[in-house]
Amino acid sequence: DESGALEAEFRLHYVQRMLPFARASLCLGLVLVIAVCILDMLLLPRAVFEPAIPLRIVTMLIPLAAALSAAYMLHDRSWLPYLFAAVAVSAGLAAQWIDTIAAGIEIRGVSWGVFYVTFNAYVALALNLRQSVFVGGTIFSAYIVLGIVAGAPLQQLAYGILFLGAANLIGGWASFTLERSAREAFDDKHELVRLTHTDGLTGLFNRRTFDQHLRQVWKQAQREEHRIGVIVADIDHFKLYNDCYGHREGDVCIKAVADVLAGSVSRPLDLVARYGGEEYVVILYNPDPLFLDEYVRGLCKSVVDLGIEHKGSETTHTISLSIGAAISETYSSITADQLIRQADDALYEAKNLGRNRAVVYRPEWGQQTTANLAAVLI
Ligand code: GH3
Ligand code: MG
Ligand code: MG
Repeated sequence: DESGALEAEFRLHYVQRMLPFARASLCLGLVLVIAVCILDMLLLPRAVFEPAIPLRIVTMLIPLAAALSAAYMLHDRSWLPYLFAAVAVSAGLAAQWIDTIAAGIEIRGVSWGVFYVTFNAYVALALNLRQSVFVGGTIFSAYIVLGIVAGAPLQQLAYGILFLGAANLIGGWASFTLERSAREAFDDKHELVRLTHTDGLTGLFNRRTFDQHLRQVWKQAQREEHRIGVIVADIDHFKLYNDCYGHREGDVCIKAVADVLAGSVSRPLDLVARYGGEEYVVILYNPDPLFLDEYVRGLCKSVVDLGIEHKGSETTHTISLSIGAAISETYSSITADQLIRQADDALYEAKNLGRNRAVVYRPEWGQQTTANLAAVLI
């Protein structure tokens, strides 16, 4: 559904936005692991660094290098946060484990590495709040378990829990704030895009979007030797309706007719737009000419069937629609603008012939006057 798709789009947007940060964090992590290995060799006794260094390489260096390559090469970026989270958990657990147990380094408090990984999980790795809390929480719990297993003095453990716990809390808040502000910016942008493409009253696409879409499908149709159908529709005696029932009721009516039109198309390249005032346009991609006739006839009927009273209209005493339609040839020499003009001419003809009807312009009938070219559908 639409909100699910939008949420997925936001997730991807968030990862893209945070990606430079995450890459830098992973790079720095790699440099740190190498530096720690060198310091181990320089500062610690051989009995300690000999088991520690291979462990650091397997649990930190290799996963970090893999995540960093993925951060540059993976095309489907929606998976990156999961990978980063896994690497962070691995590095965080390993840091504590190596320092307290495997290498027997006399660190009974929180390993420095654990603080670094926790900090990065909350603000730098493109994780959302849930993912970063999962990473932080797992490492925090592991610290407590490892501390107990390693027989850390209660006093050390207590300070560790206090500070690492506090770091997790403030980190969670930071992560929440980062995600929320990114979401707000994303929503604003999305809303702005929506507003520039649609009409506020009806929710239909606006004229600008209609023009863009027509240009695009026109090219596509020429390449594929397909037809384009254009429909121009105009509410009958609408000035009288406004005069009789007021502008506000007029707006309600414009919206009701818009809903009928919006519900009338479903194919992906078709489009309904508000052309202005009480005028609408529809683009049909490669419609069958017989279908087009049925379609415009159906629209006229659906609008009358709305049953919106219009005492002033001498046509039907309800709101009605006049429609002009035109369809391009598969080998068309006319332009998109000429097609719209043909549909406009047909609309003019529908009005002349008494309104509440559709007129389809027939190019194959040659260079005659509009009335003679048209198929009149009531
Ligand atoms: P015809 O059957 O020939 O189309 O007659 P008409 O009265 O519908 O045509 P005309 O173009 O003279 O009048 C259109 C009216 O639509 C005039 C204008 O006041 C009204 N109108 C245009 N935009 C809006 C709108 O957004 N809301 C409302 N309520 N009325 C609008
Ligand atoms: Mg009009
Ligand atoms: Mg009108």
